[in-house]
Amino acid sequence: MTQFPVFDGHNDTLLRLHTSDTPASFFEESSDGHIDLPRAKKGGLGGGFFAVFTPNENYEVEPENYLTENGYDVPLPPPISQEKALAFTNALGARLFKLESEANDQLKVVRTADELKHCLENDIMAAIFHIEGAEAIDTDFNALHVLHRAGLRSLGITWSRPNKYGEGVPFRYPSSPDTGGGLTDAGKALVRKCNQLGIMIDNTHLNEKGFWDVASLTDAPLVATHSNAHALSPIARNLTDKQITAIAESNGVVGINYAVNMLREDGGLGTDISLDKIVRHVAYIAEKFGVDHVALGSDFDGTTVPDSLKDVTGLPKLVDRLKAHGFHDDELKKITHGNWIRVLEDTWK
Ligand SMILES: [Zn+2]
Repeated sequence: MTQFPVFDGHNDTLLRLHTSDTPASFFEESSDGHIDLPRAKKGGLGGGFFAVFTPNENYEVEPENYLTENGYDVPLPPPISQEKALAFTNALGARLFKLESEANDQLKVVRTADELKHCLENDIMAAIFHIEGAEAIDTDFNALHVLHRAGLRSLGITWSRPNKYGEGVPFRYPSSPDTGGGLTDAGKALVRKCNQLGIMIDNTHLNEKGFWDVASLTDAPLVATHSNAHALSPIARNLTDKQITAIAESNGVVGINYAVNMLREDGGLGTDISLDKIVRHVAYIAEKFGVDHVALGSDFDGTTVPDSLKDVTGLPKLVDRLKAHGFHDDELKKITHGNWIRVLEDTWK
């Protein structure tokens, strides 16, 4: 294992495997998507947050279909029912646990920071069971208790579509993340319940009012697993300097997303961009808010990444570019995995 194993804030590999008509095995090298176990080993990916996300049926989120005068504004998909979301969550959750049982001890679903550290030290892929968008959770929190016992350790209150707990940001460029109302009373209760259970709350995709509601209620560090700096790329999905200040003051972390339209100044979809576009967002947060508050959050298998990265095998090139930018070894350790470990130690109980 490399000196700088990458522990990553977000992947959609479970959804890719689940929805592909002819999925290649996760345990065999292929060119499908961005992550499989052999490619992860080549790239030095030590693990990450494995998202369980319930998609809308027949919903196209292609910004080029929704162009505006100076950007794009993709309409949000309609809400989905708890029944549908819970069934899909069980299916993707089961897929994660099946991967673990088929992995011959090469992948483990981690529930504690000690388990995470053990995996990184022993070249075992560490997977965090994460849900993106809380539609599957009933307001009595019965599903949350059961899922937590099963291994759920991280929850995004919303994906971009609205739900009974809050409102996410649309895929809109240019736009502030202040696009709608804050958390509902049920959303506020969900924050307290996650604190009580020790489930990390992920603020990625939440709109700005919802973010401030979480900030005022939570007793854990503030986290955005896969978002970038709005000052560099003014898309609604990115975080303002004020939000990043609050994350840093809470001793939290931002995982930098490799989605080209969240990296580029012009919000564009062209993939012919250098790895320095990723480095620029990392460096902006490290230099302005502190190196303890930036990590990586690829969005592998859920987005379009720069051609220069290609897939998870491109990570060593990215680490080299971070080094070339001037980050020292102790800083690279924090960015690639150390900051995630610290935040999870402070959050999980
Ligand atoms: Zn996402």
